[in-house]
Amino acid sequence: MRLLVTGGAGFVGSNLVRAALRHGGYADVRVIDDFSTGVERNLAGIEAEVIRGSILDGEALSRAMLGRDAVVHLAALPSVPRSIADPVSTHAANATGTLCVLEAARRADVPHVVVASSSSVYGANPVLPKDELAWTRPMSPYAVSKLSTEAYALAYQACFGLPTLAFRFFNIFGPGQRHDHAYAAVIPRFVHAALRGEPVVVHGDGRQSRDFTYVETVCRVLLDAVTRRVQHAQPVNLAFGNRIELQTVLTQLEQIIGRPIERTMLAPRPGDVRHSQADTGTLRQLFPDVAPTPVEDGLRATVEWFRGWLPAPAPRERAGHAEALGSTVAVTSPS
Ligand code: NAD
Repeated sequence: MRLLVTGGAGFVGSNLVRAALRHGGYADVRVIDDFSTGVERNLAGIEAEVIRGSILDGEALSRAMLGRDAVVHLAALPSVPRSIADPVSTHAANATGTLCVLEAARRADVPHVVVASSSSVYGANPVLPKDELAWTRPMSPYAVSKLSTEAYALAYQACFGLPTLAFRFFNIFGPGQRHDHAYAAVIPRFVHAALRGEPVVVHGDGRQSRDFTYVETVCRVLLDAVTRRVQHAQPVNLAFGNRIELQTVLTQLEQIIGRPIERTMLAPRPGDVRHSQADTGTLRQLFPDVAPTPVEDGLRATVEWFRGWLPAPAPRERAGHAEALGSTVAVTSPS
């Protein structure tokens, strides 16, 4: 199986490349990534061919498609706040980029394309859990771009007979996820701050909930999808119905880390949805053999990964840690 992973230097992509090489049958894995949000260290020690280029560059993309049996298309600018700050570049990478990937795959006769959409497409629809036929109402340019990602993939299936599968990822977490940029996701930010004994920033009251999935589970589903060439005429939720409030995540992290975590509460962010939970019927029907890693086990593995990766604290920081150990949980007022 010769696999192309777009966005392979990113969080999900690099975990997928590792899993593909580890589980055999995927001796030949190629990556195309422009390293806009992905990082070199994610691919350190991985024996994959890396094309450093944009999916918006036709020549680089055609090279990437040559001789591939499947494409997992993950390349995107994946952030709601970033898309509000700069909607046009989000549209270019996520919507136009997906169209370019599908068109290049079609021209190169690649027999299967899996794409990553997002639960953000449900947006203002309050129903829980959300099944794939529930109405969509994107609340951010990012969500719009992901709706077009899945729509293009399904249109290529309908118009050109290209076998495609459009997953709606919910909230994925795990090793390799960045904490260190303005648009970082919540769990890596929590884990990083907590391990350093710093306050974690919570937008909103902490009662908002997300359907979290450990990245290893997502990779198992993706590899099963490409191995069996699964296609589907509707988008497919990729989550297991684990709706957890952010404050529960923090409590679990306190138990794993063994000390209280200070919270700084800020105003909710525009474009963020309040609750999110997947209906898992279609996923379980298409992927009956994939059992999810429990969220708490995933959190433990994520903490371990961050522990191994963080530089050792300087002596002054260690003193700060000791103070944090003795402190009680402080909740500052919303700004
Ligand atoms: P990530 O930012 O870590 O990875 C995205 C990768 O795409 C990066 O390596 C980036 O450099 C690359 N990229 C961006 N624009 C590109 C371009 N024009 N050409 C080539 N490469 C480009 O994000 P992630 O968390 O790994 O997300 C992977 C996919 O899953 C994205 O499509 C995202 O929208 C989707 N998704 C992720 C989550 C999640 O919880 N992580 C949730 C819903 C959907």
